[in-house]
Amino acid sequence: MSLKDSVAQLTPSLLEMRRDFHRHPELAFQEFRTSAKLAEFLQSLGLEVTTGIAQTGLVARLKGHKLGKTVLVRADIDALPIHEATGAEYASQTPGVMHACGHDGHAAIAAHVAAAFVGMRDQIEGEVRFVFQPAEEIVSGARPMVEAGVLEGVDAVVGLHLNSQLPAGMVGVRPGPSMAAADAFTLTVRGRGTHAAMPHMGVDTVVIASHIILALQTLVSRETDPVNTSVITIATLTAGDGAHNIIPETAELKGTLRTFDPVLRERLIRRIEELSKGVASAMGGSVEIAWLRGSPVVVNDAAMTERFRAIARSVVAEDKLLETPPVMGGDDMAEFLLRRPGVYFWVGAGDPASGKDKPHHHPGFDIDDEKALPLATELLAKAALEFLH
Ligand SMILES: [Zn+2]
Ligand SMILES: [Zn+2]
Repeated sequence: MSLKDSVAQLTPSLLEMRRDFHRHPELAFQEFRTSAKLAEFLQSLGLEVTTGIAQTGLVARLKGHKLGKTVLVRADIDALPIHEATGAEYASQTPGVMHACGHDGHAAIAAHVAAAFVGMRDQIEGEVRFVFQPAEEIVSGARPMVEAGVLEGVDAVVGLHLNSQLPAGMVGVRPGPSMAAADAFTLTVRGRGTHAAMPHMGVDTVVIASHIILALQTLVSRETDPVNTSVITIATLTAGDGAHNIIPETAELKGTLRTFDPVLRERLIRRIEELSKGVASAMGGSVEIAWLRGSPVVVNDAAMTERFRAIARSVVAEDKLLETPPVMGGDDMAEFLLRRPGVYFWVGAGDPASGKDKPHHHPGFDIDDEKALPLATELLAKAALEFLH
């Protein structure tokens, strides 16, 4: 049976699994049910399954009849703290938790690639290692899986992200940097509280925080080469307790840094700290900075991207295959791609006609699973086979 035919045969099970995961979403590191369902499914296929890696992650190994290379197929499995508003028949049954990024689809797709491969063992040279990682949404699941050794002996990695902003039937990929490095920081500004009518008696943290916010805008606009893409955003400013007449002792700023260039990333991390501290001290206050170092840049291997394109052309028409622009969003698939060559590609899953075009992380997010999932499964399977050779 051809791969396409076996995917067609598996499609009812593929959709059922995605919708089951959709009904029962689980937050980062709480994916116990999802993980158990995947383990049960993969064990029933005869794969060698290891559970409890990075708490709720699992690995399933499919060994071919011949020796060869090892390809890692990665899927993320976590949901988001969002209350679903799709009204879908398969909507979340857990209030406040929702698969609003498509990871329900990713888990079902990778599991069904394994199912499609079971009958093809005689054609598989080497090992296909399926890695289901928790906690992508808090950028914390990939690193502990890598530390647990899931990359040992791996020659290449491959994975995909469904994309509601691309119509179902389309495929996107680009060589090189594809998704940004994402870091988060918290700045705590300290001054001296006082009566709002006597500012000279204190050190005003609200004014210092305001100067810091404006000064930080110059790091990208004045200190960074305009063609070297980066973003600094202050997303939260907290100061005071609602009074009209008190200058608060502290103010807190929370923000994100997005970069593609590792040298620029380190420079901006240093400059955010220097500039904030300089502004605060010049104004009589001080600043403490705490970093949450996120995932590095998602970088696709150029030669493997070319091989993936050839695979994609055998599955979809030329005009359905796009070179997608880089995005400032991050993904901890980067942790695998940092250590092994590979490809992370987009599979279109949107359908504007039926309202399935909401952005990721939106309470109305949904995907055209009937169209997108079989195509994604075939592409991922073909890419894994290609990289085994
Ligand atoms: Zn997401
Ligand atoms: Zn995602």
